Amino acid sequence: MTKYNVIFVLGGPGAGKGTQCEYIVRDFGYVHLSAGDLLREERQRPGSQFGEEIEGHIKNGTIVPVQITCSLLKRAMEKSGKDRFLIDGFPRNRDNLDGWNKEMSDVAKVIRVLFFNCSEQVCVERCLSRGKTSGRTDDNEESLKKRIKTYTESTMEIIEQFRKLNLVSEIHAEKSPEEVFEEVKKVLNELN
Ligand code: UDP
Ligand code: MG
Repeated sequence: MTKYNVIFVLGGPGAGKGTQCEYIVRDFGYVHLSAGDLLREERQRPGSQFGEEIEGHIKNGTIVPVQITCSLLKRAMEKSGKDRFLIDGFPRNRDNLDGWNKEMSDVAKVIRVLFFNCSEQVCVERCLSRGKTSGRTDDNEESLKKRIKTYTESTMEIIEQFRKLNLVSEIHAEKSPEEVFEEVKKVLNELN
């Protein structure tokens, strides 16, 4: 039985996923789950057996094994007591998608994929400026190169796969947050 409705939120590093998710939560009442934030939280959790493994992947821009990420997502979904979710920054590769389908296809329905399309140049500029204050260990030039490589080589094909299923709404993500949100609103209004 399907318990959950899910919108996947994808796009390059710095494309604006987190910012737009905050606006969506404010106006449409979904629960926002950022896979990256859940992994960073797990990394900090005293006694976590995955801390070092997660940090290695984050710094390197590579992708944490799906068993870890998917169980964090699933637990957060259950804990929320809610049934409509924005899942931000996941699935990022084939392993992620396969693991999700195996674990979640009975309980969760993917109703849409929001794809924030933003040029590499703008993504890099945004992450480097965020890096001045974010404290993130991956908002630096070296990690960014690797994150963009992973995005191009692994995540884009997942977006293409969803596109073939007619699930993708592509958003032009280079404008101001408010302007981008105007486009997002149109998509979400059509869902309701
Ligand atoms: N990450 C991962 N699996 C996920 C989400 C994130 O392995 O499902 C790791 C990956 O190393 C990624 C990092 O966490 O580069 C940061 O992800 P986040 O989504 O926070 O970055 P963003 O795309 O928002 O800049
Ligand atoms: Mg993010």
